[in-house]
Amino acid sequence: MDMTDGGTVLVTNDDGIAADGIAALARLAERYFDEVWVVAPDVENSQVGHRVTTDRLLTVNRLGGRRMSVDGTPADCVRIGIELIGRRPDWVWSGINHGGNLGLHDYYISGTLAAAREAAFFGVPALGASHYMRRGLQLDWEIAAERLGSAVDALVEQPSLAGGEFWGINLPHLEVDAAPAEVAFCHPEAAPLDVQYQSGAAVDSFQYSGTYHDRPRSEGSDVAEVFDRGNIAVTRLSI
Ligand code: MN
Repeated sequence: MDMTDGGTVLVTNDDGIAADGIAALARLAERYFDEVWVVAPDVENSQVGHRVTTDRLLTVNRLGGRRMSVDGTPADCVRIGIELIGRRPDWVWSGINHGGNLGLHDYYISGTLAAAREAAFFGVPALGASHYMRRGLQLDWEIAAERLGSAVDALVEQPSLAGGEFWGINLPHLEVDAAPAEVAFCHPEAAPLDVQYQSGAAVDSFQYSGTYHDRPRSEGSDVAEVFDRGNIAVTRLSI
């Protein structure tokens, strides 16, 4: 089913229940769905990838209505969300992440994308939305949600997700007076992140010092669309 059919959405993220990005995403979801459930990690879980918790109790903190936090990971939240709703939702929306999740390298590291991937394993259509961040530029979550809405509207025109597929969406970080961002359907960059380390003060200690903005990219990839063209990059991903 597509977004125009209403139904039930499970909204989650990896920045945690208190993040501005998930509030913006839940507000946007209200436009498309009859029932919006927000089930998100109680604390930040960025870069945890597809980690799940199976060796201890997971505790749900009910925050009123269909909003709750879990002391687990993003993938846990999808699993527990299905448990709480009592059935599989029609969609899972994850994000909006504070920072880009671009290229295959990010996709495997990201908790935001892991939540969408976990949904895809169960055949639930999903999207993971992230916001590329440029230094020294303010982030307006309302504008971000509007841009994401334009991407969601564009998804409806695309062939439906097949089993095991999910969408990756990355928003550009533009000047306030920039022209409207265009939606670009593209492929995930395969080149790795700019991975570097500097020696720490102690012997055999290392500090990650890679520069996200310096990552290599090829024409037509999601990284190039967001970094070089200021477009909204949409990629069709698969488990
Ligand atoms: Mn995050």
